[in-house]
Amino acid sequence: MQKIKEIASRCEACIKPGCIVGCPLDNDIKGFIKCIKEDDYKEAYNILSKTTVLESVCGRICPHEKQCQGACQREIKKQPVKIGKLEAFIGDLAIKNNWKIRSKKEATNHVAVIGGGPAGLTCAAFLKKNGINVTIYEKHDYLGGLLYHGIPSFRLPREITQNTVSRIIDLGIDVKYNEILGKTISLEYLERKYDAIFIGIGANMSNKMKIPGEKLKGVYGGNEFLEKKIELDYKDKTVLIIGGGNVSMDIARTAKRSGAKKVILVFRKEEKDLTADIDEVNAAKKDGVKFIFKNNIVKVLGRKKVTGVELIKTRYKKVNDKILLENIKGTRHKIECDYVISAIGSHANRKTMSSLNLELNKNGRIKIDKKGQTSKRKVFAGGDVSGNIGTVAWAARAGRNAASSIIEYLKKKEGKKHV
Ligand SMILES: Cc1cc2nc3c(=O)[nH]c(=O)nc-3n(C[C@H](O)[C@H](O)[C@H](O)COP(=O)(O)OP(=O)(O)OC[C@H]3O[C@@H](n4cnc5c(N)ncnc54)[C@H](O)[C@@H]3O)c2cc1C
Repeated sequence: MQKIKEIASRCEACIKPGCIVGCPLDNDIKGFIKCIKEDDYKEAYNILSKTTVLESVCGRICPHEKQCQGACQREIKKQPVKIGKLEAFIGDLAIKNNWKIRSKKEATNHVAVIGGGPAGLTCAAFLKKNGINVTIYEKHDYLGGLLYHGIPSFRLPREITQNTVSRIIDLGIDVKYNEILGKTISLEYLERKYDAIFIGIGANMSNKMKIPGEKLKGVYGGNEFLEKKIELDYKDKTVLIIGGGNVSMDIARTAKRSGAKKVILVFRKEEKDLTADIDEVNAAKKDGVKFIFKNNIVKVLGRKKVTGVELIKTRYKKVNDKILLENIKGTRHKIECDYVISAIGSHANRKTMSSLNLELNKNGRIKIDKKGQTSKRKVFAGGDVSGNIGTVAWAARAGRNAASSIIEYLKKKEGKKHV
């Protein structure tokens, strides 16, 4: 508690708080920190819950340095207020004390939310808070999406996700598990049954490396590897991870913590070009992950099962004022390993996308306008499936925005009925 008070006391309550601008969810950070300073924790929670239902989650895993904390005035002195710690503290208190999420009782329309990740859960919560019945359709037999099967439990404890999900469902949201849009249910069926639909099914198909040997046993796409909770025999094994983002760091750290003898992360560019947060890179190094920079994977070796990989060194080359990366001829070399996990980006499930008959954007994700509306007026979408910035807070923001748009859409529709 002393520590929390100390962190809160550093907030200078700026007239134009950069932290609020930096927060994807527009949380009233200055307001809730003021309440912490005054020991009014319940009011701090009330303030936060106006804009978010994921306090305990976002407090722990948001890239705060790039968002609220990065925009804190004290960042100039390299002493920003650790806003995430304060948000998680209030979220955890709400869980512990069972402070309910406030909602209106009267239920009128009925909306289907497809996908129970941060986008779907937030959309569902903000609809229900505003007196609209919600049914969530979820592929798995649990909710949370990547909060549950993506972000490792050493960064986001499972019980935090479970408690956060329970509090949302306790609003009175109906959930249908093991229902897959495009497989067990169609969009046409949902359009007939519900007043509006929100699609938040994420984009969790790993991009392929497109190299020989990719189909060998022991080669996995990072997203499938995490989602299917594939348990490998790590004892005395060497695991090679391809990629340079946060996902590759999470997989590498998971492998190391699960007992792999050696975990090597191969990245085609220089260390400074890693897209992962610096804290994640440092944590991976601390966990014992080894890095190979400026190397491209060209082949996975083995007969049926992986025995190694062939890499080639890379360098930067200036072409017409542009800096390009090229493979250096004659620098191919081999490394022995037992597993290869690629984490070089992801895309939406193409089969599901084409079954929806919705307009897609150039990346094959659902095209939406500023209000989150798709090419079908009754259908809204958001989060990773529509290509929002791939973070939890941005997915939640998309879900909340879509809830507002759906409410507006339903009001207009009701209004027309009474003309
Ligand atoms: C390993 C990893 C680590 C990450 N770490 C962070 C981090 O530290 N901080 C951060 O801010 N972001 C992080 N992210 C990104 C973040 O998790 C995502 O941007 C966010 O979860 C997207 O939310 P979403 O609701 O759009 O999709 P998802 O979280 O993917 O949820 C989609 C939901 O839809 C369900 N679904 C899928 N298909 C169907 C279907 N056809 N029918 C019905 N349901 C379906 C899924 O089961 C899931 O429940 C990480 C991502 C990964 C992969």
